[in-house]
Amino acid sequence: MAFDYDLFVIGGGSGGVRAARVAAAEGVRVALAEEDRYGGTCVIRGCVPKKLMVYASEFPQAFELARAYGWSVTDDGFSWGAFKTRLNAELDRLEGIYRNLLSGSGVETHDARATLIDPHTVELSDGRRFSAQHILIAVGGRPVLPQVQGIEHAITSNEMFHLDALPRRMIIVGGGYIASEFAGIMNGLGTEVLQFYRGDQILRGFDAEAIEHVASGMRVHGVDIRTNTNVASIEKTEHGLSVTDTNGAVHQVDQVMFATGRAPNTDGLGLEALGVELGRKGEIIVDAYSQTKVPSIYAVGDVTDRANLTPVAIREGMAFVDTVFKGVPSAPDHDLIPTAIFTQPEMGTIGLSEAEAEAQEKVHVYITSFKSMREGFGGVEERVFMKLIVSQETDKLLGCHIVAPHAGEMIQLAGIAVKMGATKADFDRTVAVHPTMAEELVTMRNPTRSS
Ligand code: NDP
Repeated sequence: MAFDYDLFVIGGGSGGVRAARVAAAEGVRVALAEEDRYGGTCVIRGCVPKKLMVYASEFPQAFELARAYGWSVTDDGFSWGAFKTRLNAELDRLEGIYRNLLSGSGVETHDARATLIDPHTVELSDGRRFSAQHILIAVGGRPVLPQVQGIEHAITSNEMFHLDALPRRMIIVGGGYIASEFAGIMNGLGTEVLQFYRGDQILRGFDAEAIEHVASGMRVHGVDIRTNTNVASIEKTEHGLSVTDTNGAVHQVDQVMFATGRAPNTDGLGLEALGVELGRKGEIIVDAYSQTKVPSIYAVGDVTDRANLTPVAIREGMAFVDTVFKGVPSAPDHDLIPTAIFTQPEMGTIGLSEAEAEAQEKVHVYITSFKSMREGFGGVEERVFMKLIVSQETDKLLGCHIVAPHAGEMIQLAGIAVKMGATKADFDRTVAVHPTMAEELVTMRNPTRSS
């Protein structure tokens, strides 16, 4: 049977665009459908605008430091409007690049929603149908809101980039990446931030001690983190929102943002009728090669809820092309993924937390904590924290956790070493780069404790 295309990709985010481009470069006839903007969550309403907002929010501290370093700096305040205009222009530019990358590599794009009709046919929202030998679903995820009285008055991270005005006071609900990053951003931009987390400590699942440093650093910066606290109800008032928390306290705020998790965008795609298996959250169940139960249908990225990170979606997309179109079966590697959390202070992490490592084997734990030279000179309290978790049996690094300015940059490089199976002896014989913060990673001589 002759198909219209060899590959039809649904979703123009990080995973879908990469797979489409790389496949087209192999001479594969590729189409891609996107119902919204090209670039997906990462470019349009995630990593990229978020990071630009992090940069914007760091200036008050930079001004303070500049003065301490002898500069005369006048701070006339932050213009959200001016920033938003530039941000939107940048996102338009990036979206244009994504579109050009697709057209330049010969991918036919359809600005429409696509649903599946059978294992080889998609239907677009304009009614047109196309057949394809393979279909790749890369439709990503969306924020989910819990059922709380008055939830219709709350926003999610999607709306944070479009606010008409900066809130004077806001509540951010959740203790994950998104809530914790936005708490720092909004605090830096001048909003009074209350962060509600239902458990004992934010960023559950990461190394407990590293998180302790992040949370105390966030508090020093001014974020009011309320643990064991959730929203009970939200009421709209004449002046804003009146929020009652689960401890009975009432807060008057301008905005409430929920970052209480994300769900895969599988609703209404027609997947279950075809026999594509979905998990509890609606995620597409795939094998190691991103193939679903229906052999012609594959899925990559957040819609599969494996590791919901852009670089992972990109790797999954490329491995899919290797497997299906290059004849090289490739399973994306989800082991030892380095990641950064752009909280203030920032955290970079790879591998096991101390608790996870200890549950597995006997370990040595190396810890250092010190004042950052740059900030310390300027009288700004910014403590750096670094922890290495080392196997007693093999001397290999099992985990590395860094809380420091630019920790994301550091963990990218430390991540290579850890991924290569570096031992503590390898770290020790590497000469320190002086004077840096990262040099402390190779100068920790004696374990702080051993299990
Ligand atoms: P997470 O799943 O990381 O966190 C959700 C948070 O919301 C948790 O603290 C959770 O609490 C809490 N929560 C869940 N349900 C409720 C509820 N009903 N009431 C109150 N709190 C609730 O999701 P995020 O939305 O923060 O991020 C989604 C994903 O996006 C991340 O997992 C990550 O993969 C990706 N991401 C990565 C970034 C990066 O790499 N820097 C940045 C942003 C996002 P509990 O802990 O108790 O379950």
